[in-house]
Amino acid sequence: MAALEEFMSGLVKRNPNEPEFHQAVHEVARDVLPYMEGRPEYHHAQIFERMTEPDRIIVFRVVWEDDQHNVRVNRGYRVQFNQAIGPYKGGLRFDPSVNMSVLKFLGFEQTFKNSLTGLPMGSGKGGSNFNPKGKSEAEIMRFCQSYMTELCRHIGQYTDVPAGDIGVGGREIGYLFGQHKRITNEFTGVLTGKGLDFGGSEIRIEATGYGCVYFANHMLVHVGGSLEGKACLVSGSGNVAQYAARKLIELGAKVLTLSDRSGFIHDPEGLTSDKLDEIVDYKIRQRKSLADYAQASGCSFIAEQKPWAIVADAAFPCATQNEIQLDDAKTLLANGCRVICEGANMPTTAEAAELLEQSDILYGPAKAANAGGVAVSGLEMSQNSMRYNLSRQEINDQLSGIMMGIHERCVEYGAGSNGVDYVKGANLAGFVKVAGAMLAYGAI
Ligand code: GLU
Repeated sequence: MAALEEFMSGLVKRNPNEPEFHQAVHEVARDVLPYMEGRPEYHHAQIFERMTEPDRIIVFRVVWEDDQHNVRVNRGYRVQFNQAIGPYKGGLRFDPSVNMSVLKFLGFEQTFKNSLTGLPMGSGKGGSNFNPKGKSEAEIMRFCQSYMTELCRHIGQYTDVPAGDIGVGGREIGYLFGQHKRITNEFTGVLTGKGLDFGGSEIRIEATGYGCVYFANHMLVHVGGSLEGKACLVSGSGNVAQYAARKLIELGAKVLTLSDRSGFIHDPEGLTSDKLDEIVDYKIRQRKSLADYAQASGCSFIAEQKPWAIVADAAFPCATQNEIQLDDAKTLLANGCRVICEGANMPTTAEAAELLEQSDILYGPAKAANAGGVAVSGLEMSQNSMRYNLSRQEINDQLSGIMMGIHERCVEYGAGSNGVDYVKGANLAGFVKVAGAMLAYGAI
């Protein structure tokens, strides 16, 4: 496809050394550029060129003191990607792997994901190459305060509303929100993922994992199936993985695995809720690894590997980007896996994603399948604006309705003679709304 190659070669030239960003754009461009053929208004307005260029990027120095009084320096970022349909919205990631390419890919993906939710949210992403692992509480607090001291100039409830992502959970959001409030002397919904005591929403912590399983369920129901009795591989062991596993167990599926950087645990009988509680206590409360849990509990543990070679009906990659490579995808298909539903952002490499899209399995891409988290963030923003809290039941019902709406939009734009192409459906449905708003604003 000449148009795609031409577009990508320009993008790569303008954004050198950003492989993750190239990968994320390529995946969308493959569907959007053909869709734009015969729609001259998009071409004339250079809509896709504008959509792949962030509104602005803020990069700053974050200086903090460790417990030994050494001065430490990290790099902080906020990529304000697209504000066409609402304030910039997206998480903060604190991880040594954070760089410009990773944050631009995440911010770009967020544009389509947020649009798909149907809520008025633009897109952004931020974070730092700070590694929270092994840091004391006091060090985490000082880092968050220093990071927010600069970030607070650039965000606000009507401008940009960050949240958590890898390495940024409830604890970090508490420190960040406290520092923002202290500097601005204002209590507003400037961050989401807050604690329930200070403006947070019910179900926010569960939302990405629950939403991902709701989406898988919709894909299965659409072809007359269900999750009940299905053997499932889950990767990761953070919030997304944990609550995906919980919802799967609740719906009668069998969760065979969970993973982290140390390896994966394998329970052929399926994890029970009690076992999950123990694992979460190790991982989240004690901040230990699955290797430590396996040693203490004696469960089957495969060091330094991913779970994709285990035979199962469905896979839920809920760890991080590019965790399913081409060989993993081939193995999953050869082993009879019929559903792959992405809880993490871009967990599948470009080659693996292409193979899955061409196969006849149900493949739910992250933009659609993991939008439940940011959707409940949107509901948190609404509650903050209303100065009101909705109940668990109300939020769960709304989340479930939003995931159903996303599924419907994917079907509308992705249905073909071979079933629904969810990648194409998510890309196009996400694109159309943002493009419509950008056209309405003229050349800005
Ligand atoms: N980090 C999450 C995501 O990737 C949530 C973002 C948010 O709630 O703003 O969508």
